[in-house]
Amino acid sequence: MTLTDVLPSLGRSLHTKLEPDVWPRSTSAHPDGLRIAGIPVGELAARFGTPAYILDEDEVRRRCRAYRAALPGFEIAYAGKSLTCRAVLRWMAEEGFSLDVCSGGELAVARAVGFPAERIILHGNVKTAEDWKAALGYEIGRVVVDSLDEIDQLGSLARHPQRVLVRVTPGVDGHTHKAIATGVEDQKFGFPLRDAMTAVDAVLAQPGLRLDGLHCHIGSQVSSVASFELAARRMVEFAGAIRDRHGVVVRSLDLGGGHAVPYLPGQQEFDLTGYAQRVRVAVSYTASQLGLPVPQLTIEPGRALVANAGVTLYRVVTVKGRYVAVDGGMSDNMRACLYDAKYLVRLAGRSSSAPLRTVSVVGRHCEAGDVIAADIELPSDVHAGDVLAVPVTGAYHHSLASNYNQICRPPIIGVRDGWARPLVRRETEEDLLARDVG
Ligand SMILES: *Cc1c(COP(=O)(O)O)cnc(C)c1O
Repeated sequence: MTLTDVLPSLGRSLHTKLEPDVWPRSTSAHPDGLRIAGIPVGELAARFGTPAYILDEDEVRRRCRAYRAALPGFEIAYAGKSLTCRAVLRWMAEEGFSLDVCSGGELAVARAVGFPAERIILHGNVKTAEDWKAALGYEIGRVVVDSLDEIDQLGSLARHPQRVLVRVTPGVDGHTHKAIATGVEDQKFGFPLRDAMTAVDAVLAQPGLRLDGLHCHIGSQVSSVASFELAARRMVEFAGAIRDRHGVVVRSLDLGGGHAVPYLPGQQEFDLTGYAQRVRVAVSYTASQLGLPVPQLTIEPGRALVANAGVTLYRVVTVKGRYVAVDGGMSDNMRACLYDAKYLVRLAGRSSSAPLRTVSVVGRHCEAGDVIAADIELPSDVHAGDVLAVPVTGAYHHSLASNYNQICRPPIIGVRDGWARPLVRRETEEDLLARDVG
């Protein structure tokens, strides 16, 4: 007889504690392991194979509705680069969101689900001839222009007056990883404030373009509301300078995305209510001081809508000393390598009351840096065949996935109310060979 037979409540406390904030709300812990949307994770792994990205539809929609409720009157454009597939874009269209794309490829998926063209915004520091063709062919609502070359190119291609936003780097440091800090002045995106008027002049000189507004995006995984507030204020001040110089009133301000999410238990949720309030006040106060009408505000969250709705499932293949090696790795999780991002890993296909020990969960790729989580705690009886789950993988995982080592990319499995279905199927070796035509 074990202690948990005598004291079942002790057993439950060992098995059923779930780390707060990082899992989809529908996740629950049971003696037989985790369930997501009511479905045992072991069953998902057996049915769909591993690695697999699990995506909880209700969690995505819940987050969309939280944004809508916190930001009445704002236009909310989903940043498609965080996770684009037909199903997710359909959900965003149904939730009444707009859509940010940054390539003809993302636009092709939007087009495949009939995403309303007037609600699509194209951004990015490079738009190729193909991207222009796709954007103008679908007659998308707005283009964020990022360079003088681009203003010339689009001006000569547009057949109807194309609404544009000028991307400005407001010189605000979002205090984030330098690979995703895009608001500071010396980087490849947009126009620093001191040059931005030249871009506005150029847009206004093009009969094929109509200046709709200004755009900024100060970075990703930014938690400082004060940084967003400062950027918003500088944008309105610049709108004032445009009015003074050209007599033109800027109708809209797009303040970008980048709202931080918790990746580990104990990390803060983004203060959405504080953001809404402080940005709204900063914009209306600055506008009224300058005698400008309050512009229409747009925001572009990506990560904040989908990251915490995703969980990656892996199967343990070998345990060697303190290394627990799984059947995926840097091909399905680039963030760990790119940004040294930290993840929680949990034994998910069963529970265990074995004591914890410190291990590193590593991938299958031929790189020593292919580490999913270094020096974390897992039950000491974790063994080959166990299913592990890594939460907060809904954003920038599938979209950053590669075929390194000719590993096939995992499927995205949508779950909702006890049902599971593939949204994107697993890649196959036939898929890999299909494009290898030499
Ligand atoms: C990446 C990006 C976003 C979204 O960033 P998140 O961190 O996913 O919210 C929004 N706007 C632009 C222009 C971007 O490049």
